[in-house]
Amino acid sequence: MLNEDIYKELLTKYTGHFGFEPEVVAYAPGRIEVLGNHTDYNEGYVISAAINFGTFFAVRKSAGQGCRLVAGDLMKEVVFDIGRVEPAGSDGWQNYVKGTLAGLADCGVIECGFDGMFLGNIPLGSGLSSSAALEMSAGLAFSRLYGITVDSVTLAKIGQKAEHDFAGCNCGLLDQISSLAGESGKLVKTDFRSVVYESVPAGGDICFLMCNTLSKHELADGAYNKLREACEQCAAHFAKVLRHPVKALRDVTMAEWAIYREGLPEESARKGAHPIGENERVLLGVRLLETGDVAGFGTLMFDSHASSRVLFGNSCEELDFVVAAAGRIPGILGARLSGGGFGGSAVVLVHPRDAETVGRALENSFAARFGHPCEVSVITPSEGAHIVVGP
Ligand code: ADP
Ligand code: MG
Repeated sequence: MLNEDIYKELLTKYTGHFGFEPEVVAYAPGRIEVLGNHTDYNEGYVISAAINFGTFFAVRKSAGQGCRLVAGDLMKEVVFDIGRVEPAGSDGWQNYVKGTLAGLADCGVIECGFDGMFLGNIPLGSGLSSSAALEMSAGLAFSRLYGITVDSVTLAKIGQKAEHDFAGCNCGLLDQISSLAGESGKLVKTDFRSVVYESVPAGGDICFLMCNTLSKHELADGAYNKLREACEQCAAHFAKVLRHPVKALRDVTMAEWAIYREGLPEESARKGAHPIGENERVLLGVRLLETGDVAGFGTLMFDSHASSRVLFGNSCEELDFVVAAAGRIPGILGARLSGGGFGGSAVVLVHPRDAETVGRALENSFAARFGHPCEVSVITPSEGAHIVVGP
């Protein structure tokens, strides 16, 4: 369904359910990670994009302290008091909204309750960050409704805190920043040391395919934390042996890694090389896009995947299959795993005219190997979060 259809459906459902129109409607998109894997917590760089799927949040102030919140696809309502915004054990979707509300309450005065409803078209839990879209659409809508002014980085951090404290997910800031900072036809480059982001030209007529392999491997077993530890161990080693200050792997180059890695356990050295290489690929990738070298950028995406597979060890059979198949299909410019790894989705770079054919080819070859197709969504870099209706 088109985003406009979702918007109309939300308004119909909202007025049908509550008996009046919303005062404020905000929209926030999901995101894809295009290049820069496991670089955020190493204080490095990521290229991402806001996508053409998102969530609308409609809301109106209520007369008293009561809050009614409805998930529009389920038409399920939860009620609570604005003075008691706490995480709930059921209907997990309310926690993203409540966490965002709690964060905003620290930045201003929330004097009354609300009647709110949200509806979106991002597939849930498929690596496109429906959770950040929910937080950022709610965050923008509430900040306009209650007249609380917050800048984008603060709002992103409020969303991240909602994930940590209310939803139990220790995510970085990438999802929220990308949802807020996206621009139509552009990518977003973020420096996770300074949390400064900028738009990068997409370098021509491009789009992406997000291929959800529907597989999930070791991440839940603490593999993510082990990777973080390896990166920290590696950074501590380089802080000792290099003459310049090293606070995180962001401060180490591949050339330094090659010369000064001695003394590091083999596995940590290998793992540490991944975010270091990714940072360099992001910086080179920005330069290539600025000169319109989309093919060169695609090659960096394949290199990124090889680094995940060989050095970092965060790929899996399904992701390797998609990326290898992508390498053989004409019209595909680049492909890599996107996000944490160990399953989930691969992101594929194509020209829009090839998107459908290439997507079908990937689905078919995946089905022939694994017995079910991967789920392919066509993604175009799109505008970021904004107010759709508001005073
Ligand atoms: P991702 O962010 O990759 O989609 P997460 O597990 O972080 O995956 O977030 C998915 C959760 O977000 C869902 O299980 C649900 O609780 C909540 N959610 C997000 N958007 C919606 C929506 N439009 N309707 C209902 N729940 C939603
Ligand atoms: Mg999420």
